[in-house]
Amino acid sequence: NRTLDDIRLQHRYADLGPVFGTPTAPTPLENPVLIHVNPAVLSLLGLAPETAQDPRLATITTGEHLLPGSKPVAMKYTGHQFGAYNPELGDGRALLLGEIENNGRLWDLHLKGAGKTPYSRFGDGRAVLRSTIREYLAGEALTALGIRSTRALCLVDSKTPVAREKMETGAALIRVAETHIRFGHFEYLFYTRQLEAQHKLVEHVCAQFLPEVADKPVQEQAEALLRFTVKRSAEMAAGWQSVGFAHGVLNTDNMSIIGDTFDFGPYGFLDDYEPGFICNHSDHTGRYAFDAQPGVVLWNLNALAHGFSSLLDTETLKSCLGDFQPLLIDFYATRMRAKLGLATEEEGDQQLCADLLQVLDDGRVDYSAFFRALSRYQGERPAASLESLVAPGQHENLGQWLSHYDQRLQRESVTPAERSRAMLRVNPKFVLRNYLVQQVIEAAEAGDYAPFETLFMLLQSPFDEHPEFESWAGVPPESGKHLPISCSS
Ligand code: AMP
Ligand code: MG
Ligand code: MG
Repeated sequence: NRTLDDIRLQHRYADLGPVFGTPTAPTPLENPVLIHVNPAVLSLLGLAPETAQDPRLATITTGEHLLPGSKPVAMKYTGHQFGAYNPELGDGRALLLGEIENNGRLWDLHLKGAGKTPYSRFGDGRAVLRSTIREYLAGEALTALGIRSTRALCLVDSKTPVAREKMETGAALIRVAETHIRFGHFEYLFYTRQLEAQHKLVEHVCAQFLPEVADKPVQEQAEALLRFTVKRSAEMAAGWQSVGFAHGVLNTDNMSIIGDTFDFGPYGFLDDYEPGFICNHSDHTGRYAFDAQPGVVLWNLNALAHGFSSLLDTETLKSCLGDFQPLLIDFYATRMRAKLGLATEEEGDQQLCADLLQVLDDGRVDYSAFFRALSRYQGERPAASLESLVAPGQHENLGQWLSHYDQRLQRESVTPAERSRAMLRVNPKFVLRNYLVQQVIEAAEAGDYAPFETLFMLLQSPFDEHPEFESWAGVPPESGKHLPISCSS
């Protein structure tokens, strides 16, 4: 249980050399207010709970002070944005401070919102309170749902004015992930023909995540890494589709090489089940619509594979990419069986699931609320708690589906009570719905952080009942669906 004084930062990334980034000092924010410290992330990092009270945490997060031993570096990457290659990217408002080791794992500390870097282009290097709150909460929500995600150690607001659609305040967070290396890091080295550096980066990532190939020739490492990324990305995408999460900006610079959900902009969790849901209002073609995500993740993996084409032949690349679809289907099926409470596996399960999604789509049914209610379903007729979620004209369809479901459940051997218990552990009661985030942000902007703390707590334990917070579990009013979420951040 360490304090800030015991932190010994490592600099495995910064020490790779100047090709990989530019040493950059943060530009401090004024009058910091520490809004939140995440106890779960303190513990990931091996830091004592009392660290939350350390006054230095606020000024470290605004960039006024550096953690002892920090060597802040803006990481260089490029990437495909909405399908077009952009060579100009990199950490434009974030800095890697270094890596912390705990229990044999390394964690990057990445300061986000602390001023301009050589990669800021036209940006101001800042993040606002609104977007910082959204990022902070999303990492917790996904983690609690068993989906890999970056998280944040702490969140700070300030008095530094920042111009977006209106004037806002500059905020910052310390993002924590096992690595911040993106698909775009590899694309950058490939398109600039820095092949030696690319080998170095492959070896760097393998040393951390694939030690079993660390002594192998670099081609072998590259193949292992690509297969690993394909698998992690399939698992991530399957996770999103099963919980109803839409990322919103699936550019290759926002794709983590280890399959963490990465870079939270105008994301959204589904309210009504709407396969074509577009959460990003500047995504006019629906490139990043909810149901397009698995295909886009594969598109992004193709872009990554192209970046590996200096190391691996076409057949190998194709074979790695070929792993994606079966893995995706398998990960998704496993998650959906759990949501449906099916402990065994049958051929018809996929159809049963697809049929349900059709009922939810036709009946404009709230996705998460339906599965939560289904977790308590015991074959009763009328199935009142489920019907209340379904448009009246679709009750017959629901009834038909339920009779198929009843028949399927008869071939299960777990008791209904056991099944219900298991389903309540995978079908959340509390969901990071945009209308809730909006309320939390408005309160925080007015100086009241209590709603934010409540939502944070509920998202870290979304399967618990929390009866005193029933109103946070509700389906949003019609006006709370499809809120326009600003892309500015
Ligand atoms: P994103 O759309 O968040 O994936 O960001 C794309 C690129 O723009 C990355 O290189 C970011 O670092 C950069 N960027 C985003 N917002 C800002 C900002 N306010 N100031 C400087 N750079 C930014
Ligand atoms: Mg980004
Ligand atoms: Mg971003």
